[in-house]
Amino acid sequence: MSNKHGMVIVGASLAGARAAEALREEGYGGPLVLIGAEDELPYERPPLSKDYLMGKHGRDKLYFQSREWYGEHDVDLRLATIVTGIDPAKHEIALSGGNRLGYAKLLLTTGSSPRRLPLPGGDLADVLYLRTVGDSDRIRSAIQTASRVAVIGAGWIGLETTAAARTAGAQVTVLETAELPLLRVLGREVAEVFAALHAQHGVDLRFGVQVQEITGTDGKADGVKLADGTRVDADVVIVGVGITPNTNLAVAAGLTVDNGVVTDAGLRTSDPDIFAAGDVANAFHPLVGRHIRVEHWANARHQPVAAARAMLGQDVSYDRVPYFYTDQYDLGMEYSGYVEPGGYSEVVFRGDVPSREFIAFWMAGDGRVLAGMNVNIWDVNDAIAALVRHGVPFSKGALQDGSVPLDSLAGA
Ligand SMILES: Cc1cc2nc3c(=O)[nH]c(=O)nc-3n(C[C@H](O)[C@H](O)[C@H](O)COP(=O)(O)OP(=O)(O)OC[C@H]3O[C@@H](n4cnc5c(N)ncnc54)[C@H](O)[C@@H]3O)c2cc1C
Repeated sequence: MSNKHGMVIVGASLAGARAAEALREEGYGGPLVLIGAEDELPYERPPLSKDYLMGKHGRDKLYFQSREWYGEHDVDLRLATIVTGIDPAKHEIALSGGNRLGYAKLLLTTGSSPRRLPLPGGDLADVLYLRTVGDSDRIRSAIQTASRVAVIGAGWIGLETTAAARTAGAQVTVLETAELPLLRVLGREVAEVFAALHAQHGVDLRFGVQVQEITGTDGKADGVKLADGTRVDADVVIVGVGITPNTNLAVAAGLTVDNGVVTDAGLRTSDPDIFAAGDVANAFHPLVGRHIRVEHWANARHQPVAAARAMLGQDVSYDRVPYFYTDQYDLGMEYSGYVEPGGYSEVVFRGDVPSREFIAFWMAGDGRVLAGMNVNIWDVNDAIAALVRHGVPFSKGALQDGSVPLDSLAGA
């Protein structure tokens, strides 16, 4: 089928499906094809390491839209289909199976994949990674029956699966090369909060360690060997050591790629008719003043709306304050802002840190708020985002003083 004048979206997860929805909301009535490698309706991933993993709800709650929605909105949804190449000169893509499809504008929402550990034993059964709903199903059944779980990597995925495994009753050992969990993302002050949270829930936290090998018997993992010779027994090994953007198509098509597909603030790549959004996009962010790649849900939800508008020829600039959240045991938090590793001068707290009911502000040396995190305190995130957006110095005393409403500071 020729689709020379249509919109084609590659990657049918949150960012791709949201872009299709936004194109229709914006009044686009032409051909619209959404192509995804997974044989699953577009779905949301955050519950895969939280409520869905813990069996609190079923698959139906994950889906972005019902199957009927795509038909009703004339979205040609092609699942279990891999895009194998892009020919920018001909405005065509190649599909698994050999078909080709023309486009007027193309959006890449190919997301990211877990980084693999190139270790001896890394391919044993029961060495599990988490990205898809099938991965979450496998981890759920593994942690329900395992008595000892080893988690390699104390990032968001590692810590959330740790919380799920502890809640399921398994003994969990977390193995992390850094001195603290989430150290690069949060800095020492708040990383310590997450270390204390897991220690209080009985997790065996091993920091500053190097994993040398995953050991096994009869093809099945039975433990982890560390570089210092220590052995950690485990029935299941879960690996969460970060993700890499799925840029192969973009590289092969000659697009500019540098830590993701590089775009301008309007999500346009180095080819004027190809756009990118979500985890795969390294987009210029006007507020931050440089290109950033955001690997979080809110970005995959909001950025494609801007991309859809840009595809329709509107003049857009995506400058939302980056946002993410986590839930672990009884700790829920939201974070708004953007801080480079080590790129702040101090963290200012409001509230009670030991009881985990507080707001943390990452400050620049001149008193600007670079980012803020509300932990077990709700309905303040818009005000925090407004403080970040203001980009002017704030008084440390006022930020610390819980009697000063944040929205009055932000001028909201
Ligand atoms: C377990 C888990 C928990 C998370 N929890 C949180 C959280 O608590 N808070 C938060 O802010 N964020 C969280 N995230 C991150 C968030 O889910 C991602 O930022 C979001 O999924 C990115 O969406 P995306 O559509 O850009 O990419 P993806 O979700 O990676 O989807 C990309 C899709 O494109 C498909 N694709 C790739 N290449 C091709 C191709 N050549 N042809 C066809 N299809 C292709 C892939 O198969 C995939 O379905 C979590 C992620 C995971 C995995």
